[in-house]
Amino acid sequence: MNPFRYKNGVLHAEEVSLESIAEEFGTPCYVYSKAALVSAFRAYSNAFSSRDHLVCYAVKANSNIAILNLFAKMGSGFDIVSLGELERVLMAGGNPSKIVFSGVGKREDEMKAALLAGIFCFNVESEAELERLNNIAKSMGEKARISFRVNPNVDAKTHPYISTGLRQNKFGIPYDDALRLYVRANAMENLKIAGIDCHIGSQLTEILPFVAALEKILLLVDEIEREGIRLSHIDVGGGLGIRYSEENPPEVSDYAQALLEKLEGRPHKLIFEPGRFLVGNAGLLLTRIEYLKHGEEKNFAIVDCAMNDLMRPALYDAYHEIVQVRQVAIEGETYEIVGPVCETGDFLGHGRNLAAKEGDLIATRSAGAYGMSMSSNYNSRPRACEILVDGSLSHVIRERETTGQLMAQEKLPGVEP
Ligand SMILES: *Cc1c(COP(=O)(O)O)cnc(C)c1O
Repeated sequence: MNPFRYKNGVLHAEEVSLESIAEEFGTPCYVYSKAALVSAFRAYSNAFSSRDHLVCYAVKANSNIAILNLFAKMGSGFDIVSLGELERVLMAGGNPSKIVFSGVGKREDEMKAALLAGIFCFNVESEAELERLNNIAKSMGEKARISFRVNPNVDAKTHPYISTGLRQNKFGIPYDDALRLYVRANAMENLKIAGIDCHIGSQLTEILPFVAALEKILLLVDEIEREGIRLSHIDVGGGLGIRYSEENPPEVSDYAQALLEKLEGRPHKLIFEPGRFLVGNAGLLLTRIEYLKHGEEKNFAIVDCAMNDLMRPALYDAYHEIVQVRQVAIEGETYEIVGPVCETGDFLGHGRNLAAKEGDLIATRSAGAYGMSMSSNYNSRPRACEILVDGSLSHVIRERETTGQLMAQEKLPGVEP
């Protein structure tokens, strides 16, 4: 579904014009469509409805509690990577017994909090973590449910920064160690083996690497179960790509069919950890042009959002479609669309055609995932506000930060030069 459409020449989020949102709440501003979030979740979940499954939304893609709450109300579980995300999920009404905890660097206090909350499963990523978790569970008189995140050594064919399933990556346990570690974990008193997990990367636009990873995981499942260790679930991670421009990511139904075929006849509960797919195209970043600057070689449109608001272009050279909020009939010029931050990497897009003037609004699409959640305060820029549109209603789900809030943790100790 496309929740962002032009009506009378003005881009709308559902029934609300982005011009009115900018007027009321200011810019820069993240705008999300409730209908798009709901429809992405239902499409994903329905694709696997023939099997016992649990969708665990990867919180890091967009961790606003209103969005977590919306998914929780649809029965979603959550994939977390920190204590902060655990607290967010609990605050948002998420069910702790539907939480999986991923990440290579879980601290003791994070493990304790997750055990206390009663999460579904720890996705263990090293032997050292296994020992630490067993010790902590023991000290608390608990049994921690675990799966190993296994690195299947499969090339996800995505950007190297978001490829996670290759031997040289820091994630997961090496494939060839898995059987030994399952046997070892099985003998540990305060652990209970629940399943197996993998996640090979993000923004995958082909089905093949998912299938290759699953095939390798299933070989391992057979070996593990031959040792008399029963696995109750298989977690295939997230990573399904979305369309930013010309990509042709698989339909979720085709992705599901390819996986379900391989899983036929197996009794395991299926777990998924989609992040980007559920939120990416449900959000955009609304921003205003401050200046047009006509340089000797290039034209620049300087906007009021920056790399601190949306880091993906600077970090991954990621492409986001940029459109004018008000359609115009005049011919445009080619611009570098850049922010005010003092970094050459501070851009939203290169060589884009705009027929705009100062003060016009533009929208950066597909910004719902890894947008706000990766934002920072670099250059002492307060973070943008976030608006959730539901039909003709706009809800503020995060107020714009103030500079006072940015300095609130800082102290003047009174030292003299
Ligand atoms: C980031 C992450 C995900 C979600 O990835 P998407 O590409 O957003 O679907 C899932 N599982 C783990 C372990 C992750 O680190």
